[in-house]
Amino acid sequence: MPTKKDKAKEEVAAAPKKEEPKKAVATEEKVEEKKVEAKPAKVEKPKAEKKKKQEKGAHALYKIEGEKATRVRPTCERCGIGYFMADHHNRFTCGHCGFTRYKAH
Ligand SMILES: [Zn+2]
Repeated sequence: MPTKKDKAKEEVAAAPKKEEPKKAVATEEKVEEKKVEAKPAKVEKPKAEKKKKQEKGAHALYKIEGEKATRVRPTCERCGIGYFMADHHNRFTCGHCGFTRYKAH
């Protein structure tokens, strides 16, 4: 009697071991499919960022008030009219000559 029970236990124990390699192969295939699907989604994101950058241009530096066009940012004192200064949180900086004028608080 004990020999028959031991054989039955061995069969039950052996059955799941045979299935394990099959499951592992199936999960690897699923992971590969997910990687392929994720690639096109990553490509779509940079397109929206590029559109925002293209909106900026020379027209963004001027404001039209009635019939006159006023400059939004100050011009460089060294380089003269035509050279706009970058507007930082605490200073204006000229990208042409490097002149920096700090904002008054
Ligand atoms: Zn300058």
